[in-house]
Amino acid sequence: MNMSEPAQFTTESLRGEMRYDVPMSRHTSWRAGGAAQRMYRPADLADLQNFLRQQPADEPLIAVGLGSNLLVRDGGLRGTVLLMHGALSGLRMDGDAIYAQAGVPGAKLARFAAANNLCGAEFFAGIPGTLGGMLAMNAGCYGSETWQKVERVQVMNRSGELLERSVQEYEVGYRHVAKRETGKVKCGENDLPHVSSFTFHAEEFFVGAWLRFAPGDVEAVRKEIKALMDKRGASQPLQLPNAGSVLRNPPGNHAAKLIESCGLKGNRIGGAQVSEKHANFIVNAGDATAANIENLIEEVQAAVLHKTGIALQCEVRIVGEKNV
Ligand SMILES: Cc1cc2nc3c(=O)[nH]c(=O)nc-3n(C[C@H](O)[C@H](O)[C@H](O)COP(=O)(O)OP(=O)(O)OC[C@H]3O[C@@H](n4cnc5c(N)ncnc54)[C@H](O)[C@@H]3O)c2cc1C
Repeated sequence: MNMSEPAQFTTESLRGEMRYDVPMSRHTSWRAGGAAQRMYRPADLADLQNFLRQQPADEPLIAVGLGSNLLVRDGGLRGTVLLMHGALSGLRMDGDAIYAQAGVPGAKLARFAAANNLCGAEFFAGIPGTLGGMLAMNAGCYGSETWQKVERVQVMNRSGELLERSVQEYEVGYRHVAKRETGKVKCGENDLPHVSSFTFHAEEFFVGAWLRFAPGDVEAVRKEIKALMDKRGASQPLQLPNAGSVLRNPPGNHAAKLIESCGLKGNRIGGAQVSEKHANFIVNAGDATAANIENLIEEVQAAVLHKTGIALQCEVRIVGEKNV
């Protein structure tokens, strides 16, 4: 479905917020990394459309939600960050489905589902990302994944065209989502497990989705949310900045178990440390640079490969320029 053609757009008519040279340490959960050349937080969907229509075809664009799965190298990001968190915040019932926009945080989505007597959204409560980031990652935990709940998605391409897409249009797997096509249209860097530098130009962004849940009892759902949050608190180092699980679980195994078995817990490079509490978390134990974190990730990958023969792949997205 295309949105009707807005009238005349000018730079002056933009209603969002443009900032320059923005430290991405303020927009990533690792609290580390370089600056974005430009950051645009759209006022709403129509404003994002307006903004995108004004961008040169070669402007590097990257969507960022809560930056909870993102490492921006110390040399920073060329181009423009489209900040979805605090921007695309629409959340409502649409018939039996929930319509949520890309900037809605997981916890808010889980609470909204509970308030509408729907169950199955509890797992979103503990994922500290936005719906856009959860769609891009097919985020999940405790046996549930984002795309299991998706009825259809709403995307915007870099020309500002608003489209609806069905689930069947995507190849969805474990922390993996890619557009089923000849590789021309991509969402974020979804098809790239580890982006080596910010030269990739995203063609299409998630701006919303319709999600389906089963009817449930609000009190039981709230109890389940609390139980899941307690479970996280007990097993994850949530007091220090981190980005959740850093490496993907290889088939039939757990990255954390492999890392622990190699004796890597507590290993440190600069301010970056392999968590003592959860071996697949790297925490910013104080003033870590993005290089500290990336080097530690590589050290862990090399040690696990050396000792077990298993090559662990990155779950976190690494973007930006190495040199400051
Ligand atoms: C303490 C902690 C616990 C975590 N637990 C889990 C867990 O249990 N399960 C899990 O799966 N993950 C977990 N994570 C990782 C992270 O929260 C998820 O990957 C989440 O989906 C990222 O959302 P975000 O909005 O922060 O995305 P960001 O980190 O901002 O972006 C991640 C990627 O998605 C892309 N992206 C973001 N928004 C859009 C959009 N609108 N359109 C297209 N692409 C987009 C970005 O370009 C980037 O490549 C955890 C992280 C932390 C810090």
